Amino acid sequence: MKLHHQIFLAMVLGGVAGAFTSESTALVGVPLLSVYDLLGDLFINALKMVVVPLITTAIISGMINVGDGDNLGRLGAKTVAFYLTTSLIAVLVGLVVVNVISPGIIDGQPARDLLGLSADTEQTLQSIEGRGAADFTQILRQMLPPNLFQAAAETQMLGLIVFSLFFGFFLRTLPGAPGEHLRQTIEGIYQVILRITMVIIRFAPVGVFGLIAVTVSRTGLDAVEPLALFFVTVLLALGLHMFVVMPLLIRGLAKRSPWRHLQAMTPALLTAFSSASSAATLPLSMECVEKRSGVSNRTASFVLPLGATVNMDGTALYECVAAIFIAQAYGLDLSLTTQFLIVITALLTSIGVASIPAASLVAITVILGVIGLPAEAIGLILVTDRLLDMCRTAVNIWGDSVCAVLLARSEGEEDVLRGPMRELNVERD
Ligand code: ASP
Repeated sequence: MKLHHQIFLAMVLGGVAGAFTSESTALVGVPLLSVYDLLGDLFINALKMVVVPLITTAIISGMINVGDGDNLGRLGAKTVAFYLTTSLIAVLVGLVVVNVISPGIIDGQPARDLLGLSADTEQTLQSIEGRGAADFTQILRQMLPPNLFQAAAETQMLGLIVFSLFFGFFLRTLPGAPGEHLRQTIEGIYQVILRITMVIIRFAPVGVFGLIAVTVSRTGLDAVEPLALFFVTVLLALGLHMFVVMPLLIRGLAKRSPWRHLQAMTPALLTAFSSASSAATLPLSMECVEKRSGVSNRTASFVLPLGATVNMDGTALYECVAAIFIAQAYGLDLSLTTQFLIVITALLTSIGVASIPAASLVAITVILGVIGLPAEAIGLILVTDRLLDMCRTAVNIWGDSVCAVLLARSEGEEDVLRGPMRELNVERD
């Protein structure tokens, strides 16, 4: 059975298992939920274990192969341009959909009292504290971490990426034996980490089963009911971006089949959905983009780690929809200026959002502050957060992978989305 079919089956089985498991269900005295939890945690831990060595060696070896400085500048400028443009498009899709549906206004009245949700906001606000600051100066600070090991320990990827770029840049031209040896050593480490990653990926179905079972059992679909309209609005907007806008870009700019790219990315998308973490999904998306979509290692290793950290289409879109929904529900006057402010803040904060579950909540509190609503207003959307987090994370990963395809094509790569699609558990050449 192909890996993505296995993962899909695991999701269905996990959903069923989760629906029939409560906190008290036990098998021979062992609580089932803790077993599922363990399976999910082991998988995520294993992925996180390889993230730091994978991104550093991938970027450094990518830099060594990138060619001269001009090449690098062009690649960098294009990457940033693609990322900003696609995120902006995502926010605008969200803006249009949330204005058309107006989920925060029911029967012409702001829905705040009707929703009357009793989430424990205080506690949640505390728990999301420190989930990665979202303001812009903080992003700049993160780019130059004073302590590299601390950055690695906290999987603070932006700092690691910048350091690896510097390291690769200077290693590229280091003359003589030391340069040659170090280049080969890093290439060797990269190959080893890839092999470890491949083994972890084989366990994806087991991990995904655990993650989904726990989420379904703890969250359930009941949570969606009071916020059904908001939920549908977000899904519709995410769906439009993922299945209409991005495919049009692949078709129009890359002149390739979006359907094929979607098939190629399925293992990574399902993992992003199950884990709600772009950082943990990064090893899988790198493998899918290179092996299955045929993007060169040079492009993928440059674009994807950066993308997982700064390019979050789903998150940017979600922030915009959520902030406007809350503003509608509070009866706030949504003038053009306010909407513009929301769009810009959503775009900028999505860059700083950490690639971990529930990270956008912090950014949404920032936007609420900008438009003059109290942070507590976030209570309105907490119950649906996990499920929507899963969906927006999949869109985040999809956005990065589409940018990788666009960039590769614009660099003249012919093999992209052509030729046989390889399975992930086959060793690379
Ligand atoms: N969970 C998302 C991610 O890792 C971030 C967020 O929107 O909360 O991509």
